[in-house]
Amino acid sequence: LLVGMALLFFVLALWFSQLMSRKAIQPIARAYARQREFVADASHELRTPLSVMLRSIEALQLEESIEGDPFSKNVLIGMKDEVNSITKLVGELLHLARTDSDDFVLDRSVFNLKAAAETVRHKLQPVAQAKDIAIHLDAPDELLVNWDAEKATQLLVLLLDNAIKYTPDKGSVQVRLADGMEKGVRFLTIEVQDTGIGIATEALPRIFDRFYRQDKSRTRKTGGHGLGLAIAKNIVDASRGTIQVESTVGEGSTFRVRIPL
Ligand code: ADP
Repeated sequence: LLVGMALLFFVLALWFSQLMSRKAIQPIARAYARQREFVADASHELRTPLSVMLRSIEALQLEESIEGDPFSKNVLIGMKDEVNSITKLVGELLHLARTDSDDFVLDRSVFNLKAAAETVRHKLQPVAQAKDIAIHLDAPDELLVNWDAEKATQLLVLLLDNAIKYTPDKGSVQVRLADGMEKGVRFLTIEVQDTGIGIATEALPRIFDRFYRQDKSRTRKTGGHGLGLAIAKNIVDASRGTIQVESTVGEGSTFRVRIPL
């Protein structure tokens, strides 16, 4: 009887403590969700005025009187850079808030990942070309995957864009896509390897944190806000995959993503 009572007491205590902790967490979870919604709404609202500002600046740049005035021309170039930078930040905040949400689910369909990667390469080719960086793509011709085509493309853009951004002129970027079976599960691997500046060992655990940038002074030049890898991680997490990085300063970095399909 004593053992039975002790057991009953133990079960009740466990149930009560779980109930209390859930009750304690609920307001925090609600506040967190509200904050996420606020960021998403604010970012969304900011997009229209920003695009109006950009169009106005571009219209002014075409004005004859401004074309002949070096001071005004420079001011407008500076303004356009800033507006573009804020537009990028707002877009990233929106993506982050959306992929952070509990209701974020992948929109799965079967598509050819090799074709998606080709499109990404084509899109980023001008940026790479400007730095004389070669992008190599190594993948089976038809790599059919049941995944979210939009989010997969976004993940590739984020990794490839970083690889180009953090690689000095005349470097190279290698993208490898492959699938294989492991313990009866089909896995997809994505590798993006660059010959860039690399990441310091102490910075490695932090690069997926939001707003983290290894070298803050470089932000102006490279135009990053430190949100790209946080978004990439959210996409990988929602796909129940993993993302890892290996890097040597001065030699380059390799980002490796594994997704169960
Ligand atoms: P950012 O907009 O600054 O590029 P990310 O979240 O994409 O933000 O990356 C966070 C930080 O991780 C970067 O600021 C940079 O220091 C580092 N990083 C990411 N990718 C690379 C890479 N391929 N090579 C070197 N450093 C990188």
